[in-house]
Amino acid sequence: MREFGYQRAYDVSGAVALLDGDREARFLGGGTNLVDLMKTGVERPARLVDVTELPLNRVEETADGGLRIGATVTNSDLAAHPEIRRRYPALTQAVLAGASGQLRNMATVGGNLLQRTRCGYFTDVNSPCNKRVPGSGCPAIEGEHHNHAVLGASDHCVATHPSDMGVALAAFDARVSYETAAGPGELPLTDLYLPVGETPHLETALPPGALITGVTLPATATAAHSRYRKVRERASYAFAIGSVAAALDVRDGHVHDVRLAFGAVASRPWRARTAERVLTGAPADAGNFAAAADAELTAARPLPHNGYKVTLMRNLVVAVLSELAEEAAR
Ligand SMILES: Cc1cc2nc3c(=O)[nH]c(=O)nc-3n(C[C@H](O)[C@H](O)[C@H](O)COP(=O)(O)OP(=O)(O)OC[C@H]3O[C@@H](n4cnc5c(N)ncnc54)[C@H](O)[C@@H]3O)c2cc1C
Ligand code: SF4
Repeated sequence: MREFGYQRAYDVSGAVALLDGDREARFLGGGTNLVDLMKTGVERPARLVDVTELPLNRVEETADGGLRIGATVTNSDLAAHPEIRRRYPALTQAVLAGASGQLRNMATVGGNLLQRTRCGYFTDVNSPCNKRVPGSGCPAIEGEHHNHAVLGASDHCVATHPSDMGVALAAFDARVSYETAAGPGELPLTDLYLPVGETPHLETALPPGALITGVTLPATATAAHSRYRKVRERASYAFAIGSVAAALDVRDGHVHDVRLAFGAVASRPWRARTAERVLTGAPADAGNFAAAADAELTAARPLPHNGYKVTLMRNLVVAVLSELAEEAAR
């Protein structure tokens, strides 16, 4: 591992100033992803600015009835927060579906959103990889890609984003706030991640040196009737091969409001807006849930070994929405 400097920040402006837009420096959250990548040489920062002592470790009400989650709230504290559990249950379920108790105690909200892909070629410094070394190629396309993207990928990269938390946040229209030396900014979580295109090494729309300060969840009654379902290759401690965050409001047997996001199928949490449009106003039944999933998945471009994800996602959408509709009818 490359030798690196370590500094700890105690306020937001101090953290931004310490990083100073230095491309060789990184913010350090819980370190559960960054430090692993440093050990393997994928990340080689000269300096770390530890942000875990910043006063961003609270979940607070916003003036319009939503919630603001500080960037250094740990995954464990987020999942356990009573208002998150009551008003956004799919978010609690998503967080608890990720990693292990020990990791969730360390991992922060900001770090979770900016964790890197688990593509095996990306994490192996001896492999070519367009994301790690621009222009070096993408061996996953002809090689091992059974857990790679089927939506929104490109000929340059087919990696997925591994966050479970981000999928629920995408379904709930979360907004990410950040701080730079030029002042604060905010963007929808779904716009945080850049399209892959020809530049998979450019992952986020954050300005250089930006510190994520928090995530805001708007008030929505629909979110209280929500669920996160994750499919993985073993029962615990594994990343998703497909996941769905869904929220449903059924009135008189018809879909009044629906929120749907997919995980582990794209380079970012995938908000399924086409499926939402198909469903809104339609009878809340399995046939329409399947038709909505199919409409979303017409954009899928599977590779030889990950076509199963299209069927998996369709079945997940039907199962989760059917459960939510049944509960609404009780
Ligand atoms: C064995 C294992 C299993 C896992 N399983 C899952 C899983 O199933 N699902 C899942 O979602 N995740 C899983 N994870 C990933 C885990 O959730 C992430 O490692 C964790 O959320 C990252 O948070 P962190 O605070 O430790 O980030 P760090 O490792 O500290 O940082 C990650 C990145 O974010 C940047 N960063 C951190 N904070 C900020 C900030 N405030 N502003 C700007 N940049 C920042 C860092 O510079 C770095 O680039 C797993 C991890 C491990 C090791
Ligand atoms: S899929 Fe992306 S991350 Fe994986 S090898 Fe190809 S370019 Fe690299």
